[in-house]
Amino acid sequence: MRELLLHICCAPCSVACLAQLAEEGITPTGFWYNPNIHPYQEYKARRDTLIDYAQKIGLDLIIRDEYGLQKFTKAVSGDIPNRCAYCYAVRLDETARTAKEQGFKAFSTTLTVSPYQNHDLIRKIGEKAAEKYGVEFRYYDFAPRFREGQQKAREAELYMQKYCGCIYSEEDRYQKQIQKDRDQFNQ
Ligand code: SF4
Repeated sequence: MRELLLHICCAPCSVACLAQLAEEGITPTGFWYNPNIHPYQEYKARRDTLIDYAQKIGLDLIIRDEYGLQKFTKAVSGDIPNRCAYCYAVRLDETARTAKEQGFKAFSTTLTVSPYQNHDLIRKIGEKAAEKYGVEFRYYDFAPRFREGQQKAREAELYMQKYCGCIYSEEDRYQKQIQKDRDQFNQ
């Protein structure tokens, strides 16, 4: 039985997680499933960066390719402030389902390397998916290694994204600029 299926949100975030797991003697299989990333060029850049990086470091990788702008926006548009719960659930559900189907002991996610993500919610959702499919969810707090991992990712010249993933987070990124433009053009 294989040990751990690790959902990977992007290559830069995987750096610290894989280092920590290696120190614990765990060699996971990576799993790409991120229909929350928009627009398509951004999705493609992150997916292909991970494919190249996995090849470079010899990481086994399963790709579940699904670009999902319309499905995602339809699902969250009624409650945009709480969209992350849906986003975590979709990704962890598919990771748990795949872990079970492919005979892994457990699954986890690189999402918990980010101090900006809601760890309690990820844990809760991961445990729910674990119960649904009968496969263990392992919560790792990778966040203390976040800065170090990002630095190593820059040194490895990985593509570094500028926002979390969905179009709403892209809008958040430009919020100050949007306000500034509004003030300038609507005087
Ligand atoms: S902000 Fe990030 S975690 Fe939240 S819904 Fe958007 S992509 Fe998903």
